Amino acid sequence: MTSRDDRIEGVLLATAAGDALGAPYEFQPPRGPELDVVMAGGGPWEPGEWTDDTAMAIAIAEVAATGADLRDETAQDAIVARWRAWSRGAKDVGIQTGSVLRSATIGDVITAERARAAAEHLHRQSGRSAGNGSLMRTAPVALAYLDDEEAMAQAARSLSALTHYDPEAGDACVLWCSAIRHAVLTGELDARVGLSHLDPQTHGVWADRLDVAEASRPADFPNNGWVVSALQAALSAIATTPVFSDDPASGVFRADHLRLALDAAVRAGFDTDTVAAIAGGLLGAAHGASAVPLEWRAQLHGWPGASARDLTTMARLIARGGKPDRFDPRYPGYRVGALAAHPFDDRVLLGGIGALRDLPDGVDAVVSLCRIGDDDVRRDIPHVEVRLIDRPDSDDNPHLEFVLLEAVKAVERFRRDGRTVLVHCVEALSRTPSVGALYGARLQGVSADEALRAVQGALPSASPNPAFREALRRLMPNEF
Ligand SMILES: [Mg+2]
Repeated sequence: MTSRDDRIEGVLLATAAGDALGAPYEFQPPRGPELDVVMAGGGPWEPGEWTDDTAMAIAIAEVAATGADLRDETAQDAIVARWRAWSRGAKDVGIQTGSVLRSATIGDVITAERARAAAEHLHRQSGRSAGNGSLMRTAPVALAYLDDEEAMAQAARSLSALTHYDPEAGDACVLWCSAIRHAVLTGELDARVGLSHLDPQTHGVWADRLDVAEASRPADFPNNGWVVSALQAALSAIATTPVFSDDPASGVFRADHLRLALDAAVRAGFDTDTVAAIAGGLLGAAHGASAVPLEWRAQLHGWPGASARDLTTMARLIARGGKPDRFDPRYPGYRVGALAAHPFDDRVLLGGIGALRDLPDGVDAVVSLCRIGDDDVRRDIPHVEVRLIDRPDSDDNPHLEFVLLEAVKAVERFRRDGRTVLVHCVEALSRTPSVGALYGARLQGVSADEALRAVQGALPSASPNPAFREALRRLMPNEF
């Protein structure tokens, strides 16, 4: 895993995070700073539940994850069939999309060809079909063509036309996918990289729109059910939210840009979930899954019975063109049996992955710090997965201090709820003692070094890698 993998994983995850964050506020006017934006659910939505934006993106992602070329008619037939299946039980379906899916279904069968025809008919009838419904679901297309930009642009436009005939919708999808792809490949935010894929006549129009978006506030685009305003509101939220430099001792991180920009997107008002879902696709691509707050990840869920973990797994699979993962979750040959109580809090247990598989009595929450297999996921108790790689190369652990602190805050939340927490990685040599030390340092107000020595008293083999030790010292300096 490298930070590029983290950025791949971020695309669908942050789409869903924006969607679920915005869902309770849909149709409301812009929210001022005096009002909360929290992932609390509301209306038909449970806390952390994503809506049609993510659901429709997942339908595309599922087909992309088979390795299919999304430009193929059979792949598009599979996508519209999945949309149709979703729409039958869905809590919300966009007006334009719902109309197209109904018109294109004969008997119980829908085809891409009929969907395109229905979309065109709707456009000719009403004179407009540039809703934001194709842009909101376009992010997975970028993951499917990381090695072929031209094919990506064709696929983005083609999938847009399944429900949205208007070329403005296709243009928006091409632009946004291009930006997402570029961000995954480079880590850079640049909304203009896709302009070259547009018709020369529309190129200048869109360039001006991007300029306007970056110079405006998200709430300056109240008509954000229109695809152009939705893109502008999302871009405005990203561009006008400050990107901080890491200052771990003060708790300020570059990674916060993702959370703050999604907050800004929701505050645009009106189609809040869609604007934030659109923004999320690009923010996740630029900052990675590791920048998505764990508190959000733990709550995220939605159609078709999926979790945050499923979104990151699917994203990786798409980027691999459907090829299986070589990761062996059994960790053969590792000594996984370590287990000790935290020296400052005996209701925090520190262990290897063996402790996850044979859960100690009384444990009712788990924080996993290593990759685990599907069979190791606990569904009966709260279980948070943290992306940490036990290597000192900085490219392996983007946002290292932010992620360590997020892991500790997850432990702290579980403890405030009165839970007994298992914190584990594979062997409890590096990651687990690091998180244990930071937890102890914050609990007792001691330096990270002092807390680590106490943890090593309980886990004598513990020896965090140098990058983790440095990160701990930046988070909890000796002198304060
Ligand atoms: Mg929605």
